[in-house]
Amino acid sequence: MKPFQLIIHGGAGQLAEPYLMKKLPVLKESLDAGWKTYLEGGTGEDVVASAIQVMEDCEYFNAGYGGYPNANKIVLLDAAMMNGDREYVAFMNIRRLKYPIRVVRDFLKNEKSLSSVWTHELMESFDFKNAELKKWYGWVERHQDLLSPYVEELLFKNQGEFSVDTGFRTVGACASDESGALFAGISTGGPNHKVNGRIGDAAMIGLGLYADNDLCAMTTTGYGEALLACFPTGFIIGRVRDEVRKDPDCFLKDSALMKRIIDEEFQEFGQKKIKRGGGIICIPKGGEPTYAFNTKAIPIGIRIGTKDKIIKNEAYIDRRDGEKSWL
Ligand code: ASP
Repeated sequence: MKPFQLIIHGGAGQLAEPYLMKKLPVLKESLDAGWKTYLEGGTGEDVVASAIQVMEDCEYFNAGYGGYPNANKIVLLDAAMMNGDREYVAFMNIRRLKYPIRVVRDFLKNEKSLSSVWTHELMESFDFKNAELKKWYGWVERHQDLLSPYVEELLFKNQGEFSVDTGFRTVGACASDESGALFAGISTGGPNHKVNGRIGDAAMIGLGLYADNDLCAMTTTGYGEALLACFPTGFIIGRVRDEVRKDPDCFLKDSALMKRIIDEEFQEFGQKKIKRGGGIICIPKGGEPTYAFNTKAIPIGIRIGTKDKIIKNEAYIDRRDGEKSWL
């Protein structure tokens, strides 16, 4: 039996220090929630959903309740999940729900892969759910109920603090369970002031996230238009497949291999296009969680262990200049 592994990130970006540091304690809450679900017998999908839900519930993260509004001041959210059996659910432009990852996780229980925009009918169907389910999905009555006071202050009163173009902060989580099966999840509000109807990369399979038990689990954050155009995840998946074809145990034997691949690909991505910042977390088949980023900073949490014992437990903000802030 392998140890359970969970890695989360709170969005790579350029956020000013006081705003960035607010995320730090929430990373631990997110890891704790994911771990509780694991201890209670939840699947990898459940663990990923629990960890992400904590960040969706917190207005300091650009997902769920902290999601950035579009040009019409409406919070439209993207979320997706994929497991290593190559089953996925992805929704774009979800409205009036604080916890899109819960919807995604519950749709995934149907074992039918689906990628869809959030239709008016879907939105209205949640208006008729019972009180318990409304709470479960974080249903709100009006669009403006999703726009948190913190986000309003950050985006509309402190424009000088960070640039709209670099303020991305998608959240994500990857896990590997005791059998080595892989899972990835993502949730985002997308860029502030995005064009109404804009489709980002986050909920696109192979771009914002990917999972394949023979290869790896991964999820990204960053400037969606650049991630779409430069396709770093595609190159990473291709390189992982090449390595695994040469040696199925490559990531077990060389614990730094995955990190080298993502560092190289994100460095190249960073040179390809203007507005090209981003980050990635991943777990390779048989290997350990790792990450790369080319923005000012990224909040990271990692927990590894069994039901009896935690082997690794870290939550910190990592910065490009090498300085880390630990909890
Ligand atoms: N990639 C996301 C998007 O463009 C934004 C982010 O990572 O924050 O929708």
